[in-house]
Amino acid sequence: MKDIFSSKVHIPPSATVTINSIAQQKKKAGQRVYNLSAGEPIMNTAQYLKETVDWAMEHGETLYPPVAGIDELRNRASLWMNDLYQTNYQVKNTLITCGGKFGIYLLLQSLLNDGDEVIVISPYWVSYPPMVSLFGGRPVIVQTEEKDGWKVRPEQIAAACSEKTKLLIFNNGSNPTGVLYEEQELRDILKVCKEKNILIMSDEVYSGLTYDKKDYVSCGAFWDHSDSVVVIQSCSKNFGMTGWRVGIVFAPEEITKKLITVQGQSITGTSIISQWAAVAAIEKAHKITPEINKEMKHRRDVFTDTFNELFPGANLQAPHSAFYSFIPLKAFGTYHDDDVKFCERALEDGNVAMVPGSAFGKPGYVRTSFGAKPEELIDAIKALADYANKHAKK
Ligand code: GLU
Repeated sequence: MKDIFSSKVHIPPSATVTINSIAQQKKKAGQRVYNLSAGEPIMNTAQYLKETVDWAMEHGETLYPPVAGIDELRNRASLWMNDLYQTNYQVKNTLITCGGKFGIYLLLQSLLNDGDEVIVISPYWVSYPPMVSLFGGRPVIVQTEEKDGWKVRPEQIAAACSEKTKLLIFNNGSNPTGVLYEEQELRDILKVCKEKNILIMSDEVYSGLTYDKKDYVSCGAFWDHSDSVVVIQSCSKNFGMTGWRVGIVFAPEEITKKLITVQGQSITGTSIISQWAAVAAIEKAHKITPEINKEMKHRRDVFTDTFNELFPGANLQAPHSAFYSFIPLKAFGTYHDDDVKFCERALEDGNVAMVPGSAFGKPGYVRTSFGAKPEELIDAIKALADYANKHAKK
Protein backbone atom coordinates (compact mmCIF):
# COMPACT_ATOMS: atom_id res chain seq x y z
CA MET A 1 0.00 0.00 0.00
CA LYS A 2 1.33 3.41 -0.86
CA ASP A 3 2.22 5.73 1.98
CA ILE A 4 -0.97 7.65 2.71
CA PHE A 5 0.50 9.74 5.49
CA SER A 6 1.93 13.23 5.45
CA SER A 7 5.72 13.26 5.53
CA LYS A 8 5.39 15.50 8.58
CA VAL A 9 3.98 12.67 10.69
CA HIS A 10 7.01 10.47 10.08
CA ILE A 11 7.98 10.91 13.70
CA PRO A 12 8.90 8.25 16.27
CA PRO A 13 6.46 7.33 19.04
CA SER A 14 7.19 8.95 22.40
CA ALA A 15 9.59 6.60 24.19
CA THR A 16 8.45 7.68 27.66
CA VAL A 17 4.78 7.14 26.91
CA THR A 18 5.39 3.88 25.00
CA ILE A 19 7.54 2.25 27.68
CA ASN A 20 5.22 3.37 30.46
CA SER A 21 2.27 1.86 28.53
CA ILE A 22 4.08 -1.47 28.09
CA ALA A 23 4.86 -1.51 31.82
CA GLN A 24 1.21 -0.80 32.63
CA GLN A 25 0.02 -3.56 30.27
CA LYS A 26 2.37 -6.08 31.86
CA LYS A 27 1.07 -5.06 35.26
CA LYS A 28 -2.53 -5.49 34.10
CA ALA A 29 -1.64 -8.95 32.85
CA GLY A 30 -0.67 -9.81 36.43
CA GLN A 31 3.12 -9.50 36.14
CA ARG A 32 5.25 -7.85 38.79
CA VAL A 33 6.67 -4.83 36.99
CA TYR A 34 9.22 -2.39 38.40
CA ASN A 35 8.35 0.84 36.67
CA LEU A 36 11.20 3.35 36.62
CA SER A 37 9.99 4.81 33.33
CA ALA A 38 7.01 6.87 34.37
CA GLY A 39 7.81 10.54 34.73
CA GLU A 40 5.22 11.22 37.39
CA PRO A 41 5.04 11.56 41.15
CA ILE A 42 3.04 8.55 42.26
CA MET A 43 0.70 9.82 44.99
CA ASN A 44 -2.70 8.87 46.37
CA THR A 45 -5.41 11.25 45.12
CA ALA A 46 -5.74 14.04 47.69
CA GLN A 47 -9.05 14.40 49.56
CA TYR A 48 -9.44 18.05 48.52
CA LEU A 49 -9.32 16.99 44.85
CA LYS A 50 -12.08 14.42 45.42
CA GLU A 51 -14.20 17.07 47.15
CA THR A 52 -13.64 19.55 44.33
CA VAL A 53 -14.80 17.02 41.75
CA ASP A 54 -17.97 16.41 43.80
CA TRP A 55 -18.51 20.16 44.00
CA ALA A 56 -18.10 20.57 40.21
CA MET A 57 -20.65 17.81 39.57
CA GLU A 58 -23.16 19.31 41.96
CA HIS A 59 -22.79 22.79 40.48
CA GLY A 60 -23.13 21.75 36.85
CA GLU A 61 -19.51 22.56 36.06
CA THR A 62 -19.51 19.86 33.41
CA LEU A 63 -20.16 21.80 30.20
CA TYR A 64 -17.72 23.17 27.60
CA PRO A 65 -15.00 25.26 29.19
CA PRO A 66 -14.05 28.75 27.97
CA VAL A 67 -11.37 28.23 25.31
CA ALA A 68 -8.58 30.04 27.20
CA GLY A 69 -9.53 28.50 30.54
CA ILE A 70 -11.85 29.53 33.34
CA ASP A 71 -11.16 33.05 34.64
CA GLU A 72 -10.67 31.78 38.19
CA LEU A 73 -7.82 29.54 37.07
CA ARG A 74 -6.18 32.02 34.69
CA ASN A 75 -6.25 34.60 37.44
CA ARG A 76 -4.95 32.35 40.20
CA ALA A 77 -2.31 30.77 37.97
CA SER A 78 -0.87 34.17 37.02
CA LEU A 79 -0.83 35.32 40.67
CA TRP A 80 0.79 32.04 41.73
CA MET A 81 3.54 32.45 39.15
CA ASN A 82 4.09 36.14 39.99
CA ASP A 83 4.24 35.47 43.74
CA LEU A 84 6.59 32.54 43.52
CA TYR A 85 8.93 33.64 40.76
CA GLN A 86 8.59 37.44 40.54
CA THR A 87 7.12 37.31 37.06
CA ASN A 88 4.69 39.90 35.73
CA TYR A 89 1.84 37.96 34.15
CA GLN A 90 -1.79 38.98 33.89
CA VAL A 91 -4.83 37.00 32.82
CA LYS A 92 -4.30 38.16 29.22
CA ASN A 93 -0.88 36.44 29.24
CA THR A 94 -2.24 33.16 30.64
CA LEU A 95 -3.65 30.19 28.75
CA ILE A 96 -4.87 26.94 30.29
CA THR A 97 -4.11 23.92 28.10
CA CYS A 98 -4.43 20.16 28.20
CA GLY A 99 -1.10 19.59 29.99
CA GLY A 100 2.13 21.50 29.48
CA LYS A 101 2.81 19.12 26.58
CA PHE A 102 -0.11 20.45 24.56
CA GLY A 103 1.01 23.99 25.39
CA ILE A 104 4.32 23.21 23.67
CA TYR A 105 2.48 21.63 20.76
CA LEU A 106 0.22 24.68 20.34
CA LEU A 107 3.16 27.05 20.49
CA LEU A 108 5.19 25.18 17.87
CA GLN A 109 2.16 24.78 15.63
CA SER A 110 1.48 28.51 15.90
CA LEU A 111 5.06 29.66 15.29
CA LEU A 112 6.69 27.39 12.76
CA ASN A 113 6.85 27.67 9.01
CA ASP A 114 8.48 24.98 6.88
CA GLY A 115 12.25 25.16 7.24
CA ASP A 116 12.30 27.26 10.42
CA GLU A 117 15.05 26.16 12.76
CA VAL A 118 14.58 25.49 16.45
CA ILE A 119 17.50 25.05 18.82
CA VAL A 120 17.09 22.08 21.14
CA ILE A 121 19.60 21.34 23.89
CA SER A 122 20.58 17.69 24.31
CA PRO A 123 19.87 15.66 26.39
CA TYR A 124 16.35 16.87 25.65
CA TRP A 125 12.88 15.78 26.63
CA VAL A 126 11.83 13.15 24.09
CA SER A 127 9.00 15.10 22.49
CA TYR A 128 10.75 18.37 21.57
CA PRO A 129 12.42 17.34 18.27
CA PRO A 130 9.46 15.29 16.94
CA MET A 131 7.05 18.15 17.68
CA VAL A 132 9.31 20.59 15.85
CA SER A 133 9.42 18.24 12.84
CA LEU A 134 5.66 17.73 12.96
CA PHE A 135 5.17 21.40 12.17
CA GLY A 136 7.76 21.57 9.40
CA GLY A 137 10.57 22.92 11.55
CA ARG A 138 14.13 21.66 11.76
CA PRO A 139 15.51 20.80 15.19
CA VAL A 140 19.11 21.99 15.56
CA ILE A 141 20.62 19.96 18.36
CA VAL A 142 23.21 21.48 20.69
CA GLN A 143 25.04 18.85 22.74
CA THR A 144 25.93 19.23 26.38
CA GLU A 145 28.14 16.85 28.36
CA GLU A 146 28.02 15.27 31.79
CA LYS A 147 31.51 16.59 32.61
CA ASP A 148 30.13 20.17 32.18
CA GLY A 149 27.20 19.40 34.49
CA TRP A 150 25.00 19.11 31.37
CA LYS A 151 24.91 22.91 31.08
CA VAL A 152 24.76 24.72 27.76
CA ARG A 153 27.00 27.75 27.26
CA PRO A 154 25.57 30.92 25.67
CA GLU A 155 28.22 30.82 22.94
CA GLN A 156 27.00 27.34 21.90
CA ILE A 157 23.54 28.80 21.38
CA ALA A 158 24.96 31.73 19.41
CA ALA A 159 26.96 29.34 17.21
CA ALA A 160 23.86 27.25 16.46
CA CYS A 161 21.83 30.25 15.26
CA SER A 162 21.29 30.94 11.58
CA GLU A 163 19.05 33.26 9.54
CA LYS A 164 16.33 30.62 9.87
CA THR A 165 16.40 30.24 13.66
CA LYS A 166 13.13 31.16 15.27
CA LEU A 167 13.15 29.65 18.71
CA LEU A 168 15.27 28.18 21.49
CA ILE A 169 13.65 25.37 23.47
CA PHE A 170 15.05 25.60 26.94
CA ASN A 171 14.26 23.30 29.86
CA ASN A 172 15.28 24.58 33.27
CA GLY A 173 14.87 21.88 35.84
CA SER A 174 15.72 19.43 33.11
CA ASN A 175 14.11 16.18 32.13
CA PRO A 176 16.23 13.95 31.95
CA THR A 177 19.37 15.42 33.62
CA GLY A 178 17.93 17.49 36.48
CA VAL A 179 20.24 20.37 35.57
CA LEU A 180 19.25 23.67 37.15
CA TYR A 181 20.44 27.07 35.90
CA GLU A 182 21.26 30.05 38.08
CA GLU A 183 20.19 33.64 37.60
CA GLN A 184 23.33 34.92 35.87
CA GLU A 185 23.45 31.91 33.57
CA LEU A 186 19.87 32.56 32.51
CA ARG A 187 20.59 36.25 32.01
CA ASP A 188 23.48 35.36 29.68
CA ILE A 189 21.35 32.93 27.68
CA LEU A 190 18.51 35.45 27.33
CA LYS A 191 21.00 38.08 26.21
CA VAL A 192 22.22 35.86 23.36
CA CYS A 193 18.63 35.15 22.33
CA LYS A 194 17.93 38.88 22.21
CA GLU A 195 21.08 39.57 20.17
CA LYS A 196 20.07 36.84 17.72
CA ASN A 197 16.46 38.02 17.74
CA ILE A 198 14.96 34.63 18.58
CA LEU A 199 12.16 33.59 20.90
CA ILE A 200 12.76 31.37 23.91
CA MET A 201 10.37 28.73 25.18
CA SER A 202 11.25 27.93 28.77
CA ASP A 203 9.80 24.63 29.96
CA GLU A 204 9.56 25.11 33.74
CA VAL A 205 7.27 22.26 34.74
CA TYR A 206 9.71 21.01 37.40
CA SER A 207 10.05 24.41 39.10
CA GLY A 208 8.51 23.11 42.35
CA LEU A 209 10.95 20.23 42.52
CA THR A 210 14.33 21.72 43.38
CA TYR A 211 16.41 20.32 46.21
CA ASP A 212 19.46 21.11 48.33
CA LYS A 213 18.30 24.69 49.04
CA LYS A 214 18.56 25.60 45.37
CA ASP A 215 16.18 28.41 44.38
CA TYR A 216 14.27 28.23 41.17
CA VAL A 217 14.66 31.18 38.80
CA SER A 218 12.06 31.54 36.06
CA CYS A 219 12.91 33.01 32.66
CA GLY A 220 9.69 34.98 33.16
CA ALA A 221 11.36 36.92 35.98
CA PHE A 222 13.48 38.94 33.52
CA TRP A 223 10.91 41.58 32.64
CA ASP A 224 13.13 43.22 30.04
CA HIS A 225 12.88 40.01 27.99
CA SER A 226 9.13 39.48 28.41
CA ASP A 227 8.44 40.13 24.69
CA SER A 228 10.42 37.09 23.65
CA VAL A 229 9.86 34.57 26.48
CA VAL A 230 7.12 31.93 26.68
CA VAL A 231 6.97 29.91 29.90
CA ILE A 232 5.40 26.46 30.03
CA GLN A 233 4.00 25.42 33.41
CA SER A 234 1.95 22.51 34.62
CA CYS A 235 -0.05 21.15 37.52
CA SER A 236 1.32 17.65 36.88
CA LYS A 237 4.53 17.85 38.85
CA ASN A 238 3.92 20.89 41.07
CA PHE A 239 0.73 19.41 42.51
CA GLY A 240 0.96 15.69 41.66
CA MET A 241 -1.85 15.91 39.08
CA THR A 242 -0.47 14.18 35.97
CA GLY A 243 -3.70 12.48 34.93
CA TRP A 244 -5.77 15.65 35.26
CA ARG A 245 -3.98 17.19 32.25
CA VAL A 246 -3.78 20.83 33.22
CA GLY A 247 -0.95 22.92 31.82
CA ILE A 248 -0.43 26.67 31.72
CA VAL A 249 1.24 28.81 29.07
CA PHE A 250 2.48 32.28 30.06
CA ALA A 251 3.25 34.37 27.00
CA PRO A 252 3.19 37.87 25.51
CA GLU A 253 -0.42 38.85 24.79
CA GLU A 254 -0.05 38.56 21.02
CA ILE A 255 1.21 34.98 21.27
CA THR A 256 -1.42 34.05 23.88
CA LYS A 257 -4.18 35.27 21.54
CA LYS A 258 -2.89 33.16 18.68
CA LEU A 259 -2.64 30.05 20.87
CA ILE A 260 -6.21 30.61 22.09
CA THR A 261 -7.41 30.71 18.48
CA VAL A 262 -5.62 27.47 17.63
CA GLN A 263 -6.87 25.82 20.83
CA GLY A 264 -10.43 26.87 19.92
CA GLN A 265 -10.03 25.16 16.56
CA SER A 266 -8.56 21.99 18.03
CA ILE A 267 -9.37 20.73 21.53
CA THR A 268 -11.83 23.56 22.46
CA GLY A 269 -10.35 23.70 25.95
CA THR A 270 -9.25 21.71 28.97
CA SER A 271 -11.71 19.60 30.97
CA ILE A 272 -13.58 22.04 33.20
CA ILE A 273 -13.60 19.53 36.06
CA SER A 274 -9.81 19.35 35.94
CA GLN A 275 -9.61 23.14 35.81
CA TRP A 276 -11.60 23.48 39.04
CA ALA A 277 -9.33 20.87 40.62
CA ALA A 278 -6.36 22.99 39.52
CA VAL A 279 -7.93 26.08 41.14
CA ALA A 280 -8.17 24.12 44.39
CA ALA A 281 -4.56 22.95 44.07
CA ILE A 282 -3.21 26.44 43.43
CA GLU A 283 -5.17 27.76 46.43
CA LYS A 284 -3.25 25.25 48.53
CA ALA A 285 0.04 25.50 46.62
CA HIS A 286 1.96 26.93 49.58
CA LYS A 287 1.21 23.67 51.43
CA ILE A 288 1.09 21.04 48.67
CA THR A 289 4.22 21.87 46.69
CA PRO A 290 6.56 21.79 49.73
CA GLU A 291 5.02 18.45 50.76
CA ILE A 292 5.60 16.96 47.31
CA ASN A 293 9.06 18.48 47.22
CA LYS A 294 9.95 16.90 50.58
CA GLU A 295 8.64 13.52 49.51
CA MET A 296 10.47 13.64 46.17
CA LYS A 297 13.72 14.62 47.87
CA HIS A 298 13.27 11.62 50.16
CA ARG A 299 12.64 9.35 47.15
CA ARG A 300 15.67 10.82 45.37
CA ASP A 301 17.88 10.01 48.36
CA VAL A 302 16.45 6.50 48.73
CA PHE A 303 17.01 5.90 45.02
CA THR A 304 20.55 7.28 44.94
CA ASP A 305 21.69 5.55 48.15
CA THR A 306 20.19 2.20 47.19
CA PHE A 307 21.63 2.40 43.69
CA ASN A 308 25.13 3.21 44.97
CA GLU A 309 24.87 0.36 47.47
CA LEU A 310 23.82 -2.25 44.89
CA PHE A 311 26.01 -0.93 42.07
CA PRO A 312 29.30 -0.34 43.90
CA GLY A 313 31.55 2.05 42.04
CA ALA A 314 28.68 3.73 40.19
CA ASN A 315 29.03 6.89 42.30
CA LEU A 316 25.63 8.15 41.14
CA GLN A 317 25.10 11.81 42.03
CA ALA A 318 21.72 13.05 43.25
CA PRO A 319 20.20 15.61 40.82
CA HIS A 320 19.28 19.08 42.11
CA SER A 321 15.86 19.10 40.45
CA ALA A 322 13.06 17.06 38.81
CA PHE A 323 12.82 13.33 39.57
CA TYR A 324 15.12 11.54 37.18
CA SER A 325 18.54 9.98 37.34
CA PHE A 326 20.34 9.98 34.02
CA ILE A 327 22.74 7.10 34.44
CA PRO A 328 25.71 6.17 32.23
CA LEU A 329 25.52 2.56 31.05
CA LYS A 330 28.92 1.82 32.55
CA ALA A 331 27.32 2.21 36.00
CA PHE A 332 25.48 -1.08 35.36
CA GLY A 333 28.67 -3.02 34.60
CA THR A 334 31.08 -3.18 31.72
CA TYR A 335 29.14 -5.75 29.69
CA HIS A 336 26.33 -3.43 28.69
CA ASP A 337 27.06 -1.16 25.74
CA ASP A 338 23.76 -0.45 23.96
CA ASP A 339 21.24 1.60 25.92
CA VAL A 340 18.26 0.65 23.71
CA LYS A 341 18.98 -3.10 23.93
CA PHE A 342 19.73 -2.80 27.63
CA CYS A 343 16.34 -1.19 28.32
CA GLU A 344 14.46 -3.58 26.02
CA ARG A 345 15.97 -6.63 27.69
CA ALA A 346 15.61 -5.25 31.20
CA LEU A 347 11.90 -4.86 30.53
CA GLU A 348 11.46 -8.20 28.77
CA ASP A 349 13.61 -10.39 31.01
CA GLY A 350 13.85 -8.41 34.24
CA ASN A 351 10.49 -6.61 34.23
CA VAL A 352 12.26 -3.33 34.97
CA ALA A 353 11.03 -0.40 32.86
CA MET A 354 13.50 2.41 32.04
CA VAL A 355 13.94 4.77 29.09
CA PRO A 356 17.08 4.58 26.91
CA GLY A 357 19.24 7.71 26.69
CA SER A 358 19.01 7.56 22.88
CA ALA A 359 15.41 8.77 23.14
CA PHE A 360 16.78 11.93 24.80
CA GLY A 361 19.52 12.36 22.18
CA LYS A 362 22.20 10.78 24.34
CA PRO A 363 23.05 7.13 23.63
CA GLY A 364 25.02 5.35 26.33
CA TYR A 365 22.74 6.54 29.13
CA VAL A 366 19.53 5.35 30.75
CA ARG A 367 16.82 7.50 32.35
CA THR A 368 15.22 6.22 35.53
CA SER A 369 12.45 8.05 37.37
CA PHE A 370 12.29 8.15 41.16
CA GLY A 371 8.64 9.23 41.12
CA ALA A 372 7.51 5.84 42.49
CA LYS A 373 7.03 5.14 46.20
CA PRO A 374 10.26 4.43 48.16
CA GLU A 375 9.59 0.71 48.78
CA GLU A 376 8.90 0.31 45.07
CA LEU A 377 12.17 2.06 44.22
CA ILE A 378 14.16 -0.27 46.48
CA ASP A 379 12.53 -3.37 44.96
CA ALA A 380 13.13 -2.00 41.46
CA ILE A 381 16.84 -1.40 42.04
CA LYS A 382 17.19 -4.90 43.52
CA ALA A 383 15.49 -6.35 40.45
CA LEU A 384 17.71 -4.24 38.22
CA ALA A 385 20.86 -5.39 40.02
CA ASP A 386 19.76 -9.04 39.65
CA TYR A 387 19.09 -8.51 35.98
CA ALA A 388 22.34 -6.63 35.30
CA ASN A 389 24.44 -9.24 37.12
CA LYS A 390 22.74 -12.13 35.36
CA HIS A 391 23.33 -10.54 32.00
CA ALA A 392 26.90 -9.59 32.75
CA LYS A 393 27.77 -13.28 33.18
CA LYS A 394 26.33 -14.33 29.82
N1 GLU B 1 7.23 14.18 31.19
C1 GLU B 1 7.01 12.83 31.55
C2 GLU B 1 8.16 11.95 31.12
O1 GLU B 1 9.11 12.41 30.51
C3 GLU B 1 5.67 12.39 31.08
C4 GLU B 1 5.55 11.49 29.88
C5 GLU B 1 5.52 12.21 28.58
O2 GLU B 1 4.47 12.75 28.22
O3 GLU B 1 6.58 12.21 27.95
O4 GLU B 1 8.17 10.80 31.44
